[in-house]
Amino acid sequence: MNIVVCVKQIPDPTDPGALDPETKTLKRDAKLILDESDSYGVEMALQLVDGTEDGEVRLVSMAPNNEVGGLRTALAMGAASAVLVSDEALAGSDSLSTAKVLVEAIKRCEPTLILTATESSDGYTGTVPVQIAELLDLPSVTFAKEITINGDTVTVKRQTEDGYDEVECPLPCVVSVTAGVVEPRYPSFKGIMAAKNKPVEELDLAGLGIDASTVGWAGARQEITEVTEAAVREAGEIIVDEGDAHERILSFMDDLKVL
Ligand SMILES: Cc1cc2nc3c(=O)[nH]c(=O)nc-3n(C[C@H](O)[C@H](O)[C@H](O)COP(=O)(O)OP(=O)(O)OC[C@H]3O[C@@H](n4cnc5c(N)ncnc54)[C@H](O)[C@@H]3O)c2cc1C
Repeated sequence: MNIVVCVKQIPDPTDPGALDPETKTLKRDAKLILDESDSYGVEMALQLVDGTEDGEVRLVSMAPNNEVGGLRTALAMGAASAVLVSDEALAGSDSLSTAKVLVEAIKRCEPTLILTATESSDGYTGTVPVQIAELLDLPSVTFAKEITINGDTVTVKRQTEDGYDEVECPLPCVVSVTAGVVEPRYPSFKGIMAAKNKPVEELDLAGLGIDASTVGWAGARQEITEVTEAAVREAGEIIVDEGDAHERILSFMDDLKVL
């Protein structure tokens, strides 16, 4: 069983860097880290292969500057190997171009199951997983909170507003995993050391056989017309109890119309 997990490497949310006024995208020249959203997919994949004889977790990522920081974290958690696609011509890629690139990398891994997060923490269009499925002509199941593999099929508990649906799907397929549904393991010291020697296959567009004019700014079908800094969070109101704190809190919540 060969499980591929798509992992996006993103700017550290505690220090995301600046917006580039020319391209209207985030400057991605600093170190990138494993998107927390994808750590759930990595954990789920590891749980599915744990205890199996031939189970293996492989990672696929597309990132600028041959960045491997986030991949090394997932390898330290226990993934066996990774494929990284990096090419300057990929700058400005929209989600469809990203899906096209990831698909070519995924094909090299011949997966039984492909896992993604439901949406990334920075771009969060939430469109890449279904685009991957469509391009690979595979079924897709979204919002997974639990995955069980039974021979040639997968059973997925699919989170809904009211609880969950149980969906059965033939393998191979693409499943997007909801954040927070498993506890991602911390890499052990042994895992961190082992990760340094795990194979990361680095490919550019030519290596994947992709025409550079179909991806990046050249192939993008979306245009970013405007981008602004997020509003600075205002300080909260501190209510000091002078015997009437409960009334003031209720009145505050009433003003916000949350009661
Ligand atoms: C040179 C270069 C510059 C880039 N600049 C930007 C940028 O400025 N802003 C930006 O948001 N992105 C950038 N990317 C990454 C890429 O363009 C985005 O990944 C893509 O647009 C997906 O958008 P999303 O985050 O909304 O995907 P979503 O659909 O929200 O992602 C859902 C899930 O799909 C998978 N996935 C998505 N993207 C990737 C990926 N790149 N690698 C592996 N798995 C993935 C993950 O599992 C992710 O959790 C850049 C990439 C390169 C190579």
